[in-house]
Amino acid sequence: MADHEAIVIGGGISGLSFAYAVASAGQRVLLLEKSDQLGGCVHSERHADGFWFELGAHTCYNSYNGVIEMIEACGMRDQITPRARVSFRLLRDGELRSIPSELSFLEIARSVPRIFGAKKEGQTVRSYYSRLAGQRNYERVLSPMFAAVPSQDADDFPATMLFKKRPRRKDILRSFTLTGGLQTLIDGLASRAEIETTANVEVSRVERTGSCFVVHTGDGRRFSTRTLLLAIPPTQAADLLCGDFPELAKPLQRIRVTTVKSVGVVVAADMLATPPVAGIIARGDLFYSAVSRDTVPDERYRAFTFHLRPGHDAEARMERITEVLGVERRHLERVVERQVQLPAPTLGHEDIAREIDHLTAGTRLSIGGNFFAGLALEDCVGRSFSEARRLYPES
Ligand SMILES: Cc1cc2nc3c(=O)[nH]c(=O)nc-3n(C[C@H](O)[C@H](O)[C@H](O)COP(=O)(O)OP(=O)(O)OC[C@H]3O[C@@H](n4cnc5c(N)ncnc54)[C@H](O)[C@@H]3O)c2cc1C
Repeated sequence: MADHEAIVIGGGISGLSFAYAVASAGQRVLLLEKSDQLGGCVHSERHADGFWFELGAHTCYNSYNGVIEMIEACGMRDQITPRARVSFRLLRDGELRSIPSELSFLEIARSVPRIFGAKKEGQTVRSYYSRLAGQRNYERVLSPMFAAVPSQDADDFPATMLFKKRPRRKDILRSFTLTGGLQTLIDGLASRAEIETTANVEVSRVERTGSCFVVHTGDGRRFSTRTLLLAIPPTQAADLLCGDFPELAKPLQRIRVTTVKSVGVVVAADMLATPPVAGIIARGDLFYSAVSRDTVPDERYRAFTFHLRPGHDAEARMERITEVLGVERRHLERVVERQVQLPAPTLGHEDIAREIDHLTAGTRLSIGGNFFAGLALEDCVGRSFSEARRLYPES
């Protein structure tokens, strides 16, 4: 018999939302996370004096129904915090410009006849949106804007994966964060009584033994379970499964991933001349975007997290960061680096996701993550909730 009913590998939003859904079905869950902090791509960097800024995900919307359900279940509705009305600006020739000012409306007008009948299915982000807005608008404005969303070039993403229409909760702010940043939701989920979380535990192998799964950790421990969810990047999931589940490892290996490197910097508020912005979008630069904390203004500090293109050394990055912000290096009160993995899907990706579902159907093994419906937090939560319903249909 298994020691545990359910084990989750990976303490990002996918793993935690699966644990939440299984706990809501009346089962206890053990969650294993390799790093010292839960959250994965959700990482609010917090100062001792209360200031915080986001190194990863920063915005939720009132269309994030699953995320909102969990916020409410954790008793955190009063922690929903509005985002100040500041916008993203495009950096061109050293100046921050409004996005509409960079678009050619003549080109958009010429594209109008092509809008009708435009379908996202089978299209890349580049082919779909250049049809809607025109080739030049796409290359100059939309392509860098879309790259800022997943912090990588998104031109070859399937058009269906980038933005989704979902019903909106009219009683919730259109876009929001939480008091203390989005990590607050991670903390709330991890503190639920039915979920046991263990950080600093890296899973090294997954094995099948009779009707159970045995999870081996890097520090030599073994945990057996009846139900297992892997909520980690696809190549890492493939590594854990390739011994006893080679057929499942194969489609996971075919999913492209990219490493997102980010550098967050904090500056005293009175040192910066840059006007308040939600973030800076760059084109042909060494960063895709710099996401700002100006959305929740603070009198003492401002913070920017630069999401970087690969291939530049630390010195070149810091030189460019200080140049963009117009400060000297000694003015940076804090510099924090972080690195995560994100999928880099291309056309045909949906077939890989279907193949994974086909291989796990009827088993108590589940694969979650941001490479099914899409990369947004709500896509991860939606995937986890539907897998929890598959495994615990009676709840
Ligand atoms: C810079 C950035 C900004 C973003 N902004 C937004 C935003 O504003 N809004 C939005 O909706 N989405 C945003 N996203 C997307 C969203 O944050 C991610 O897609 C989502 O958080 C991924 O969650 P996950 O749990 O699937 O994976 P991850 O967050 O990657 O979590 C996986 C976890 O598994 C752990 N792990 C890996 N291997 C092992 C192992 N062998 N054993 C144990 N643990 C392991 C990792 O340490 C990690 O904690 C952003 C993403 C990034 C990178």
